[in-house]
Amino acid sequence: MSTTHTDGSPVLRMESVRKTFGGSVVLRNVGLEVAPHTVTALIGASGSGKSTLLRCANLLEEIDDGAIWLDGEEITGPGVDQDAVRRRIGVVFQAYNLFPHMTVLENITLAPRRVHGVTRAEAEERAVALLERLGLGDRARAYPDRLSGGQQQRVAIVRALAVRPRLLLLDEITAALDPELVSEVLTVVRDLKNDGMTMVLATHEMGFARDVADQVCFLDGGVVLERGTAEQVFEDTQQERTRRFLRRIV
Ligand code: ADP
Ligand code: MG
Repeated sequence: MSTTHTDGSPVLRMESVRKTFGGSVVLRNVGLEVAPHTVTALIGASGSGKSTLLRCANLLEEIDDGAIWLDGEEITGPGVDQDAVRRRIGVVFQAYNLFPHMTVLENITLAPRRVHGVTRAEAEERAVALLERLGLGDRARAYPDRLSGGQQQRVAIVRALAVRPRLLLLDEITAALDPELVSEVLTVVRDLKNDGMTMVLATHEMGFARDVADQVCFLDGGVVLERGTAEQVFEDTQQERTRRFLRRIV
């Protein structure tokens, strides 16, 4: 688990990915390269394919064509241990999905203990350290319904980090939050970036994408229509469709 990659080769690579649902094409010829320790923001209207792209990267959806690599290893080929791949990728969704009958600590230590074979003592030690880092040190014994939405979502991030993933996928993690709770979650993402975490996130928070993303991809109808640095996509927009989307949303 403690692989260090210093050669800068992509953590995640997608090539010519095609995904259909019942005959309709949802991702078309999608290519993506995510360099280590970078943040990639996926932007685009609802239904443009952001979530599907993230789900394909995590093998929650099977692609129809193309290929995906994680740390240089093709994960879409035959004979791949999909569970082993998923263990290297942390995912946080829009809804917090914490187990309501478990304390914060139990939520966080479940996967490390059950799936990764970490001892309870070590899992708890790691969990507490992460909780403290995310400003939740005093909530370890609380049940999710005692936490605010922002705190629950930060716990969900801690839970995803607890297995020390190689890559973190974040799907509109602030979309269900009251506006005043959004910034505490985005601050966590910013901190993770500063710690060198590699992330791909779908977001409607354009200010945040501009601020935190190394790479921005604009999806339109399942196609990556425009990509570049945040500066390129937001300040030097090439495509009229991107411009229209940004005008509407910003
Ligand atoms: P976004 O996250 O950008 O809003 P999605 O990836 O959720 O977009 O959806 C892209 C398109 O794929 C939409 O048209 C959506 O209706 C369709 N879609 C997503 N998941 C499924 C599914 N499981 N079955 C059928 N269609 C789906
Ligand atoms: Mg989505």
